[in-house]
Amino acid sequence: MTDAPVTSADPSLDEAVALCKRRGFIFPSSEIYGGVGSTYDYGHYGVLLKNNVKAEWWRAMLQDRDDIVAIDSAIIQHPKVWEASGHLAGFTDPLVDCKTCKLRFRADALEDAQCGRKPSVRPGEGPDCELTDAREFNLMFETNVGPVRDSASVAYLRPETAQGIFINFKNVLQFARKKPPFGIAQIGKSFRNEITTGNFIFRTREFEQMEMEYFVPPAEAEKWHRHWIEERMRWYTELGIRPDHLMLRPHGVDELSHYSSATSDIEYLFPMGWSELEGIANRGDFDLTQHAEFSGEKLEYFDQQTKERYVPHVIEPAAGVDRAVLALIVDGYDTEEVEGRQRTVLRLHPRIAPVKVAVLPLVSKEGMPERAREVFESLRRRIPAEFDEGGSIGKRYRRQDEIGTPWGVTVDGQTMENGTVTLRDRDSLEQTRVPADELGELLADRLEQPWRSPKLG
Ligand code: ATP
Repeated sequence: MTDAPVTSADPSLDEAVALCKRRGFIFPSSEIYGGVGSTYDYGHYGVLLKNNVKAEWWRAMLQDRDDIVAIDSAIIQHPKVWEASGHLAGFTDPLVDCKTCKLRFRADALEDAQCGRKPSVRPGEGPDCELTDAREFNLMFETNVGPVRDSASVAYLRPETAQGIFINFKNVLQFARKKPPFGIAQIGKSFRNEITTGNFIFRTREFEQMEMEYFVPPAEAEKWHRHWIEERMRWYTELGIRPDHLMLRPHGVDELSHYSSATSDIEYLFPMGWSELEGIANRGDFDLTQHAEFSGEKLEYFDQQTKERYVPHVIEPAAGVDRAVLALIVDGYDTEEVEGRQRTVLRLHPRIAPVKVAVLPLVSKEGMPERAREVFESLRRRIPAEFDEGGSIGKRYRRQDEIGTPWGVTVDGQTMENGTVTLRDRDSLEQTRVPADELGELLADRLEQPWRSPKLG
């Protein structure tokens, strides 16, 4: 048994990016063509990690309660949707151009930007800077539907998944047999032509959202807003994110979106500072009223018991999949010295880890690879497992540590004699011997246990 070592501080963004590339989580997109700015592709472990995040969200929405149903709406919707929602007129950021360096900046974020010329200063502060007046720039990506490119064929890639939920309110009400309070949840890609992107996958032009619209009787809106703020905070901490790296930030009145009467953001302490992970908004009756007006359909609820007819109010927890992935990677990233050697380890909650258990033959001889393969075959029927026989055992463990695999199983000489294997714990580095045929039960059980980040000390 090895003593649990002392853990170190959080990584820089560059260190997190390097690990993602090195271990096949996330790559810059179109790299062989020189890349396209701020666009990323998820590799094998990135896909598995992202899938686990989404599965945990669905679990919280659908499995742990019975008042929410799922939907998967189209990315390209009727252009009127965006007129009604206010996006066509108002989903804009203020843009300024610099006539000298030809770069473009968000007028409301100049303090975070850099002029394109030396000396390196904020835009507008250099001797040659010549900024234009700010103009409003719509963030929606425009496209054309069908073979003719004219104004009648213009359509938009959705900038949020929420509107796909509102336009299906009536359909869902009819088939789901729900009455307020009830919710409709969706995960899917959204597109925003952001003026400035950056900080790795934190702000990109193509990203995934997890949004849920919770329809409630108007008088209960504030109560449910508080409920969802608490629930969503709990979700992140139960996934192992350290509570001292999470913060709730209520929006000031001047910051609220056109549809919102109250919004609170859940922020995470990323390497670049506190930034939004998720927003929880009280959208009132804005969306249903707007779509009712623009479509001519009645979007309301009739309560058979009280004979009351009303437009439900909406509470919306809106989270970003990619930002959750980044927070989990940064929060889990750790380095430590073990017996004189540096180890990098991704301390992910076992339920979030891409691979749960790695099965490794100690050496590539004496029947160990074959026996290890058998152990792997029986394990992978129950939990995501990986078989790895190439290279020294130390190197293989280093690889699994960086992927975040919580358990390692080594098949060695003793396995061949008495059927037991070594079970290694990623975080404590504790090694125990267990019968190979008890592993499946044991690990499936451990997977359901609460987990606490060892970085909390
Ligand atoms: P920000 O203020 O950071 O631009 P927002 O308030 O516009 O975000 P929302 O419209 O509330 O974001 O979207 C809900 C969630 O979608 C955000 O909390 C974030 O996790 C995610 N998200 C929004 N824009 C992006 C983006 N460009 N890249 C990655 N994720 C995003």
